[in-house]
Amino acid sequence: MSEEAPASPEVYVLPKVATNFYYPCKKCGAEKFHVVLAHTTDVSAKIECEICGSKKTYKLPSTSTRSRSKKTSVRSSAASAWGMFNEKIGSESKVTYKMSESYEPDMAIDHVKFGLGYVKSVTSSKIEVVFEDAIRLLVHNRN
Ligand SMILES: [Zn+2]
Repeated sequence: MSEEAPASPEVYVLPKVATNFYYPCKKCGAEKFHVVLAHTTDVSAKIECEICGSKKTYKLPSTSTRSRSKKTSVRSSAASAWGMFNEKIGSESKVTYKMSESYEPDMAIDHVKFGLGYVKSVTSSKIEVVFEDAIRLLVHNRN
């Protein structure tokens, strides 16, 4: 949340964790109550349909990005890439990261320090992994 942002007529705030709000559910085909499971970034949250249990990512409508600093936009580009992977791949198929294993693009990995990440690209010895806060190069195929 950027409190220092220039005064805008509306301030968008994520619904609090464990609260319910109406949101369109594709599976149910209608607006249903969704419970907020967690905030994944400042502008997105993991939500679950109370009727069918399907999980999805809720994103706040984007406010002006022009006034953001470079640092913020780098961080949010990792966060938004992470959010897209999270929506597409989810976390159920995640595997624990080990440098001795080999990985392929679009795999979800669980890193002991950085948490859930998604493999974006691969070379013979390195993988580029999108974490929520940054994109990092990790080694793989290390014997
Ligand atoms: Zn539903």
